[in-house]
Amino acid sequence: MNKDDINSIKTLLSSPKAIVIIPHKNPDGDAVGSTLGLYHYLKQYNHNVNIVAPNDYPDFLKWMPEENSIIKYDIQKSEGDSLIQDAELIFTLDFNSLGRIGQMEEVVSNSNATKIMIDHHQQPDDYAKYMYSDVSMSSTCEMVFNFIEMLDDLDKINSDIATCLYTGIMTDTGSFRFPSTTSATHTIIGHLIQKGANNSEIHNNIYDTNSYARLQLLGRALSNLKVIPEYRTAYITLTQEELNTFDFKKGDTEGFVNYGLSLKGIIFAAIFIESHQDEIIKISLRSKGDFSVNELSRTHFHGGGHTNAAGGRSDLNMKETIEKFISILPNYKQDLNL
Ligand code: 5GP
Ligand code: MN
Repeated sequence: MNKDDINSIKTLLSSPKAIVIIPHKNPDGDAVGSTLGLYHYLKQYNHNVNIVAPNDYPDFLKWMPEENSIIKYDIQKSEGDSLIQDAELIFTLDFNSLGRIGQMEEVVSNSNATKIMIDHHQQPDDYAKYMYSDVSMSSTCEMVFNFIEMLDDLDKINSDIATCLYTGIMTDTGSFRFPSTTSATHTIIGHLIQKGANNSEIHNNIYDTNSYARLQLLGRALSNLKVIPEYRTAYITLTQEELNTFDFKKGDTEGFVNYGLSLKGIIFAAIFIESHQDEIIKISLRSKGDFSVNELSRTHFHGGGHTNAAGGRSDLNMKETIEKFISILPNYKQDLNL
């Protein structure tokens, strides 16, 4: 995004517009935080702003300021369709390929709105007129902060914006510990706390609202953990039956994959979660160092993401998926088997 782009966007935003902001399907903390942060910013200018999410997000995000105004396309399709069709501007946040918004793909592709992408994933598609795409960024929330700064509007950051952006930076950086966390990230975090983000309360809202059943599910996931030392790999499986036993709710398995990566010597971790509803095995992949789970997921599991965090899916059953997973490890011998 260069100076000319910023000037054009400033001009676009200088009069009230019909604006829709869209996060990816199964929105996470960064997707919800960045869309709400941008929403609270744009609302200050009398734009007609709506967030249309492809579907619902976990309960641990359902305290964020005005999150209850987010439209969920899977259950509010006609409202979502008309907002998208009437939109003059569409912001797409925390994803870079329209395949990531599921059922919304068609209506968004067909819309004549000017599209603006703000995103930190690899290999962006080129559906947007204006692209702020930067894979070095910790989070889309950090980029929304930068975007507001580029518009010379840091003084517009209020406690609602600060709270939303803090949340997404915190969740996408594993609470400021992943390598994507830079001194600039911390400078922004300092600014957000100054503007009213209550760091301890936000942490509490996100991480300390476990149900007993979720902890029991974590127990099961950990007892299912398998290690393949020769490839410095660890993986977890959870079947639909196990999820049912522990009263699975959306978001309950968030972060489980990281336990594999916390094992000494392990640099590649995966979790395979069966979904009868979607008829897939949902896969989350994490790595340390240069080993790219984005590449592995794109090549073998219809997915993508970042070098060290990616997602994907398998249409095979659990047993076949694990067999496939184990069978591809030798392809990565060079990176994994040091
Ligand atoms: P998670 O494993 O937490 O679902 O996702 C890890 C990262 O990969 C996130 O940045 C997420 O946006 C991205 N990601 C997850 N699933 C997919 C997918 O199916 N396709 C692509 N391109 N990215 C994904
Ligand atoms: Mn993100």
